[in-house]
Amino acid sequence: MSTVEFSRVTKEFGDGTVALDSLSLTVEEGEFLVLLGPSGCGKSTALRLLAGLEEATSGDILIGGNRVNDLPPGARGLGMVFQSYALYPHMSVAENLGFGLRRGAHPTPIDEPEMAERVDGAVEMLGLREVIDRKPRELSGGQQQRVAIGRALVRRPSVLLMDEPLSNLDAKLRNRMRLEIRRLHELHGTTTVYVTHDQVEAMTLADRIAVLDGGRLQQHDRPLDAYHRPANSFVASFIGTPPMNLIEGEVRSNGFHSGELSFPLPAHLQNRTGSGFYGIRPECIGWLDSADAPEAVPATVIGYENLGSAAVIHLDVLGHEVTASHLAGSSTDMDVGGKISISLTHASAVLLEE
Ligand code: ATP
Repeated sequence: MSTVEFSRVTKEFGDGTVALDSLSLTVEEGEFLVLLGPSGCGKSTALRLLAGLEEATSGDILIGGNRVNDLPPGARGLGMVFQSYALYPHMSVAENLGFGLRRGAHPTPIDEPEMAERVDGAVEMLGLREVIDRKPRELSGGQQQRVAIGRALVRRPSVLLMDEPLSNLDAKLRNRMRLEIRRLHELHGTTTVYVTHDQVEAMTLADRIAVLDGGRLQQHDRPLDAYHRPANSFVASFIGTPPMNLIEGEVRSNGFHSGELSFPLPAHLQNRTGSGFYGIRPECIGWLDSADAPEAVPATVIGYENLGSAAVIHLDVLGHEVTASHLAGSSTDMDVGGKISISLTHASAVLLEE
């Protein structure tokens, strides 16, 4: 197990594309870090630089405190799992698992009994006993994924890298494998860097998330801290389904004002001034019985989606589109076209400058 550090790492490709712009980030020993962001944000580039598959234009990359910029991939002590599992089609499950331990494929020689023990341990841990002699084409997607993970783990890497490893699986299997990856992490405690564009994966797997956009780090935080206290409007709208509502406007006299819309700020945001975004999560919108409450804001229901366990309500709030959600069983009347009173004044709301 090792720490990983990016220190002001920039990657500019030959055509001038800056895929990563001065990334500084530390992954603690045994930590599960998720690099999260939309397509093209630079997350795979960060992983490829760490793996040694690309060369940084500037900055330092450290593994276990040692600068590895000039080390070839095989000498960095990493295990890698990619979106395409890249299993050897002509080899059985057992052979695929053991391949990376063979002479020439592993930096230090490993004797046969040790090799057999490690492969057996992976087979047991990943539930592959029944398919041990099968070739990859005779396996389900989930089983192939497990072999790919096992193949990385038997090498006892100091850092495990995963690039969108679940994106080829259907939704149900993805959920199961997500739990399994987290369970394996608890078991081994291997420092892990995991790339995804899926914020649910990030929220459920990560000890900490690094959110990237346009090659720049937007926030590096624990999942719930990024959820409740996003650093900016990009993070606020990227994390959470439905995303946080962001209303652009002005803060004055302890109130938030945007066009015709005005409402009192919650206590923790009072005495602020200036312009920016008022952010409130859909589940924090309050339903009021009376339009007379000081924080009451009029709203019209423009859409209602019942998801079974919860409902998503789309509202027009004096010209602003606002999304609310509530758990099933709530008695709030939500007929489309209905006029209601809501409160946007909530103790977990945020004010964001950009
Ligand atoms: P995705 O989720 O789609 O894989 P990503 O966040 O992993 O996206 P990267 O693959 O890291 O993004 O790419 C970051 C940026 O660098 C993109 O604009 C991409 O087009 C560009 N890029 C990646 N590889 C190269 C290359 N070899 N040459 C030029 N530009 C590249």
